[in-house]
Amino acid sequence: MTDSARDSGERRPTEAEKQSFPARVNRNIDSNHRKHNRCLEWAENSCRKAPYVKFMLDAMKKLGCNVDLGKHIVCEPCGENVLGGFDFHRKQVVLCENVIYSQSCMNDVLTHELIHAYDFARIKYDVNNLRHLACTEIRAANLSGDCFFWKEFFSRFNFGWKGHQKKCARNRAVKSILCVSDINKDEAENIVSSVFEECYKDTEPFERIPP
Ligand SMILES: [Zn+2]
Repeated sequence: MTDSARDSGERRPTEAEKQSFPARVNRNIDSNHRKHNRCLEWAENSCRKAPYVKFMLDAMKKLGCNVDLGKHIVCEPCGENVLGGFDFHRKQVVLCENVIYSQSCMNDVLTHELIHAYDFARIKYDVNNLRHLACTEIRAANLSGDCFFWKEFFSRFNFGWKGHQKKCARNRAVKSILCVSDINKDEAENIVSSVFEECYKDTEPFERIPP
């Protein structure tokens, strides 16, 4: 994928692009001034206008965390196929300025990563525990826009979107934890299955899966 193709407008991201894992793995890419500023601008718009981002920022505030753009939300270049990540150690949401290609993509990525930030603030989870990571990935996939494409698609054709929403959240969680650990796919699927029902029905801070 070339940059010009990426810049040419809105499109649905591929599965691989939708994955996110703790970023900052490939830091040998130089920041591009134009892309960096564009990323900051989109992030600022998301924080001001995107309903789910605003809701998540508000939820963080209720937990006593004032999320500051620039300090806790940063734009950086990342390795290919990563849209963003949550850096548990520095407590920063990393937005990949060279990969995020539109405002709506930014809204989705930021919502997803803020769910990780929220989980980290809410429960002291252990980043070395794959069950904890699987749980937050299930929640982030379920509650951000990650799986909404299928929801729109299937409700339009009167298919049951709920089954697909579940399947989508499960697949994304498996992919995400495969990115951050050296386990194989079967092991990843087992870990996700072991926490799936419990984490899928935990929609905090939303009352239910957002419309
Ligand atoms: Zn994630």
